[in-house]
Amino acid sequence: MSSLRILVGVKRVVDSAVKVRVNSAQTGVETANVKHSMNPFDEIAIEEAIRLREKHGKDAVEEIVAVSCGPAKAQETLRTALAMGADRAVHVKTDADLEPLSVAKLLSKVVAAEKPSLVILGKQAIDDDSNQTGQMLAGLLSWPQATFASKVDIKDGALEVVREVDGGLETVSAALPAIVTTDLRLNEPRYASLPNIMKAKKKPLKTVSPADLGVDIQSRLQTLKVTEPAKRQGGKIVASVDELLDKLRNEAKVL
Ligand code: AMP
Repeated sequence: MSSLRILVGVKRVVDSAVKVRVNSAQTGVETANVKHSMNPFDEIAIEEAIRLREKHGKDAVEEIVAVSCGPAKAQETLRTALAMGADRAVHVKTDADLEPLSVAKLLSKVVAAEKPSLVILGKQAIDDDSNQTGQMLAGLLSWPQATFASKVDIKDGALEVVREVDGGLETVSAALPAIVTTDLRLNEPRYASLPNIMKAKKKPLKTVSPADLGVDIQSRLQTLKVTEPAKRQGGKIVASVDELLDKLRNEAKVL
């Protein structure tokens, strides 16, 4: 197997354990003073890159490069990726709100500079739930894509991916270079050990701007309003099936 560089996209998002609240301006969720972490699907993406190297050896996977687009604090997320096992990081620094299309354009320029053979992204960022970036990046690069991966391997220089699809599993093969997006069951990401967190502080991290990459990050979408979901009504215990049917017919009017 010839030597591969793997590029992994990691996004800093509100931690999955935080109960999110809509901000008072109703333009999005409250992000001030809220714990942030690496997007969980991106932890899976980093883990998979590391496992490919562990399986095929350092000569086969020569380098794992983590990329994050976002504000200064995105560097914390990159340091986590480095502590898990990535070798280098690229920070595309901007305080602007980034849509998936802008991220895909930025990543396509990083790909042009770094020349990876494989890009691994999460299937979705848990803050915007877009599930678009990997697909758009594949479109921009004209590369094959294998989304919702639950198993990834490289065989005879080609990518082999098992995908979670409705009603079962689909196995696909693609020539490299290619894009993979991770699903939940692909792996269980490791925790970074303390010595590795210390070592990560010294690993190289390069910062570039969208302007350096020549990318216009102007938004194409305007968020009109964000609202909380309707409060759930309390349940009722019915005495009989007949009463249940009556309620479904006459109160809920679903029958
Ligand atoms: P999305 O299309 O926004 O749901 O995001 C899908 C995946 O694209 C994420 O799991 C990340 O791997 C990648 N991604 C999205 N936004 C960023 C970002 N700002 N920086 C780096 N990677 C990102």
